[in-house]
Amino acid sequence: MKDILKKLPKIELHCHLDGSVRPETMYELLLEEGEDMEDISLEQFEKMAKVVDECNSLVEYLERFSYPLKVMQRKENIERITYELLEDLSKQNVKYVEIRFAPFLFMEKGLSFDESVESVLKGMERAKGDFNILSNAILVCMRHESVEKSIELVEKGEKFLGKGVVAVDLAGAEEGFPPENHKEAFDLAYKKGYNITVHAGETGRYENITKSIELLHAERIGHGIAAIKSPEVMELIKNKNIFLEMCPISNLQTKAVESLDEYPIKEFLDNDILVTVNTDNTTVSNTSLDKEYELLIDGLGFSIEDIIKLIKNSIEATFLPKEEKAHLKRIIENELKNI
Ligand SMILES: [Zn+2]
Repeated sequence: MKDILKKLPKIELHCHLDGSVRPETMYELLLEEGEDMEDISLEQFEKMAKVVDECNSLVEYLERFSYPLKVMQRKENIERITYELLEDLSKQNVKYVEIRFAPFLFMEKGLSFDESVESVLKGMERAKGDFNILSNAILVCMRHESVEKSIELVEKGEKFLGKGVVAVDLAGAEEGFPPENHKEAFDLAYKKGYNITVHAGETGRYENITKSIELLHAERIGHGIAAIKSPEVMELIKNKNIFLEMCPISNLQTKAVESLDEYPIKEFLDNDILVTVNTDNTTVSNTSLDKEYELLIDGLGFSIEDIIKLIKNSIEATFLPKEEKAHLKRIIENELKNI
């Protein structure tokens, strides 16, 4: 089974760049930045950068992001981190990935918005040539920031649309920061032709899912677990053909669900909801697509056919233009035929 999983052609749609930095690269760059790492070995550091055993909440989970952000303030570092993530994903036979990041978080030491986006795009371009992996970027607005900041992101990101950037997202802790706060920015993004995905119903309420679809124009929902609590929300997701970007291991770590038994992925699939499976953060969650699929097989009784269905959903869920989507579909289907 593991061998088949390894060989499957895969798609990753929900992956945060800052949560997916190689630990050894982070360690090396922290030393370069003059961070006091004297008493910390690489092995110890890996445990600090990842959720290895237990984590009690989304807030605790998000604390892991302080290390990567310290080293993502230089162009060459951002490009390298992007390139290395794509190298790692290509080794797991990931054919296409949408990498997401919040440009403003890379601008604490003087980088401009354009420099921060261009650095990611350069890493993507170089990886495409070297590892034959396709990718696009999703620009992330942060919930706790003002709507003006989100509008600024939408405006400044516009020139990269179709040139490596395909969408905007809204991320961060949900409690206290409802989707409607950012409506003006997402109306603008919609007008400008961005695709839209929104984190909603991760550890927050199901109302956030409805609002993200109806007020923020979301075509995809990050996580969406809380939908299981409302038949109306399930209906809405189904009727509007909204894709869910689920990330099982991360969802268990942030206590979005108490245990795998409560994880609603089967119920969603049985209700014809378009589910995709992703990693969220390969380093912070200490995961990979192979591990996510393995968990579904070992823990929830999924078959390889179920996994292939998830991958096919992911093809449809990509924010690729029609022709590129058809091209990706051919690549994936050709490989599936040979397995
Ligand atoms: Zn996420």
